[in-house]
Amino acid sequence: MNFLEKRIARDGIVKEGNVLKVDSFLNHQMDIALFDEMGREWKKRFEGNKITKILTIEASGIGIAAVAAMHFKVPVVFAKKAKSINLEGEMYVAEVESFTHKTKNQVIVSKKFLDQDDRVLVIDDFLANGCALQGLIQIVQSAGAAIEGIGIAVEKGFQPGGRMIRNLGYKLESLAIVDGMDPATGEITFREQ
Ligand code: 5GP
Repeated sequence: MNFLEKRIARDGIVKEGNVLKVDSFLNHQMDIALFDEMGREWKKRFEGNKITKILTIEASGIGIAAVAAMHFKVPVVFAKKAKSINLEGEMYVAEVESFTHKTKNQVIVSKKFLDQDDRVLVIDDFLANGCALQGLIQIVQSAGAAIEGIGIAVEKGFQPGGRMIRNLGYKLESLAIVDGMDPATGEITFREQ
């Protein structure tokens, strides 16, 4: 097991409804030394890629992306969840269905912070059905920028997002891929990488 898999095995809590709770170290209380190690690992995995910007989505992606950006030495932009708005002129807009809340949000990024010269690394905490990533990809495409890769902390490999994103041809680097989890026993199985 790698460092993140070990931490998930130790502190992750399996909930009903295919939800893995990692709020003691990843998305509520944040273990910054762990984030630093994640950033270092992504930097290694995207060594050959020329990245000019990291893009993530509020809220849980921001901390991880910010620490990762110390390794890439590039700015972080996060997509903001917006109320129904009409700012198409100044903003890139995409629609994202929330896995955890089952609601639809528009997410927006100001056109000031992403353009056709950018080579983007997309970072997020979880990959489940892939809705969040599809929204972020749509925003990068609207900007005419290039996606150099996608870095995910925890991919739930038994849900369809990972396969869908790889089939689209993106370089997807998930630091931990959970292939199964049992709410009754709390057991978590990781994919060999
Ligand atoms: P997707 O859009 O791929 O279906 O889901 C990704 C988003 O949903 C992530 O940004 C994350 O916030 C949330 N999410 C999905 N699955 C889980 C999970 O098992 N645990 C937690 N804590 N968040 C999740």
